[in-house]
Amino acid sequence: MFNVELFTVGPLFTNCYLVYCPESREAVVIDPGFGTTREAEDFLRKILQMKLNLKYIVNTHGHPDHTSGNGFLREKTSAPVLIHRLDASKLGEARRVVYESLGFELYSPPADGFIDEGDIIKFGDSELKVIYTPGHSKGSISLIGEKCIFSGDTLFAGSIGRYDFPDSSFEEIMHSLKEKILTLPGNFIVYPGHGPITTIEEERRNNPFLKEFL
Ligand SMILES: [Zn+2]
Ligand SMILES: [Zn+2]
Repeated sequence: MFNVELFTVGPLFTNCYLVYCPESREAVVIDPGFGTTREAEDFLRKILQMKLNLKYIVNTHGHPDHTSGNGFLREKTSAPVLIHRLDASKLGEARRVVYESLGFELYSPPADGFIDEGDIIKFGDSELKVIYTPGHSKGSISLIGEKCIFSGDTLFAGSIGRYDFPDSSFEEIMHSLKEKILTLPGNFIVYPGHGPITTIEEERRNNPFLKEFL
């Protein structure tokens, strides 16, 4: 069983999650979308204070508000950057200008490894399972843990992710929600990429975008 700490970071108030095994102190960071070097340094200090060993930097997708801190954390901790192959082109030196134009002081180097449907990310006695949930972007994934899901920009409390980017698809995001996410047990906690934490049951009942499935 792992612990979860939420850090809301960057100009778009991204939910960055620090997930760790309390016994082994091994940790994974999900979506470190820091806006400034200072924010990244504060986060790193917290990891060191908590005596955590960062094993992986995981991106639910490649947008700058979820990936800007990749380079900083990789340099300081040597943890590899993991992302789905279909969002990998959103990272790297050539995209630096995009990060700058959106107001991020930091950016992401290329990924070190790719994750896809069914992959297991292990840290200490804990693990996260990757599910492929495209629609917000071509390479969007979600991560399933014990009784919880990290849903990136696919599912939010009362809303769903944007589907108007060039590589977005309304049909795909709806398919991902219906077939991969809403099929989870109602008591699963949803840790979204932005906004408040919710549950599958709460979203089944009250999310206006999901009404057509019921
Ligand atoms: Zn996004
Ligand atoms: Zn986002």
